[in-house]
Amino acid sequence: MLLSLVVPMYNEADALPHFVARVRPVLDALDDGYEVLAVDDGSTDGTGDALAALRAAWPQLRVLPLRRNAGHQAALTAGLEHARGRWVLTIDADLQDPPELIPDLLAAGVATNADVVYAVRTDRASDSAFKRWTAGAYYRVMNRTVGAPVPRHAGDFRMLSASAVAEIMALPERGRVYRLLIPAMGFRSALVEYAREPRVAGQSKYPVRRMVRLAADSYFSFTVAPLRFATWTGAVGFVLCAAFAVLAVVAYLTGRTVPGWASFALVIGFIGAVQFMFLGLIGEYLARVYLELQARPRYYLDRDSAGVDAPGRR
Ligand code: UDP
Ligand code: MG
Repeated sequence: MLLSLVVPMYNEADALPHFVARVRPVLDALDDGYEVLAVDDGSTDGTGDALAALRAAWPQLRVLPLRRNAGHQAALTAGLEHARGRWVLTIDADLQDPPELIPDLLAAGVATNADVVYAVRTDRASDSAFKRWTAGAYYRVMNRTVGAPVPRHAGDFRMLSASAVAEIMALPERGRVYRLLIPAMGFRSALVEYAREPRVAGQSKYPVRRMVRLAADSYFSFTVAPLRFATWTGAVGFVLCAAFAVLAVVAYLTGRTVPGWASFALVIGFIGAVQFMFLGLIGEYLARVYLELQARPRYYLDRDSAGVDAPGRR
């Protein structure tokens, strides 16, 4: 099989008919076989039923329903773990990633002998100003943090070779942020540019809360710099405190101590705030250690539709 198209879907019933209408002609025109892995990420709007109905007339459609909403990155994991194609392409269901680019991605992969082909958004005019600004800041910070060049504005629209998928899935880490992890692994890669389109129907499934979580997961999974910063802040504080102690003793001995609670209240308040901040930072890492140690699956698969008809259901 040439291609597995992995599509995470969370409440995309409105977008689904548009998606099928545009993606199917592109895939049917491919010379070799393909499968579409629709990962239904715990949708509650009838996406699951719509997918089941589509399967009757589209044998290449394979549905992986998750028992509850696991989130975009976990839904991608489900798709990548079950994909069987020589190439595995991940794409959004809302047609912001144009399916017509699929042959270009395949051609680029074959021509350059790459393991990863990134689709890079050159034009984000269809995104809101807020989204563009936060995305710009995100890629700037992460480029510095990851230590390997992260293609700017390459989201989760990308193609991986089967061997790259196997290597990524073999990583013990579960909380994977693919758009950073994959560049960090330094695969041989190619870029294909495209213009981001507006969402075809429905609402974005990325409210600010989820954007913040993705940014935090991105940052903390690639650097322990905040912990080092805490250490250095402590060290500088210690030096300042030692100098202050000498001053205080001298002032006391020369009888020049005056009541000055305001300055002390400020210093104590400041130190308290800094301590809480660093406690929180340590907590961020501790929580991630805890979650990785628990090693619970990041998603719960209900039934692989390919496994229902065939023996060896996983
Ligand atoms: N998605 C998902 N699970 C979630 C949130 C989103 O599978 O918990 C899917 C969603 O259906 C879409 C893709 O991830 O196919 C990208 O989401 P969206 O288009 O809402 O994000 P945006 O483009 O606004 O950043
Ligand atoms: Mg979208």
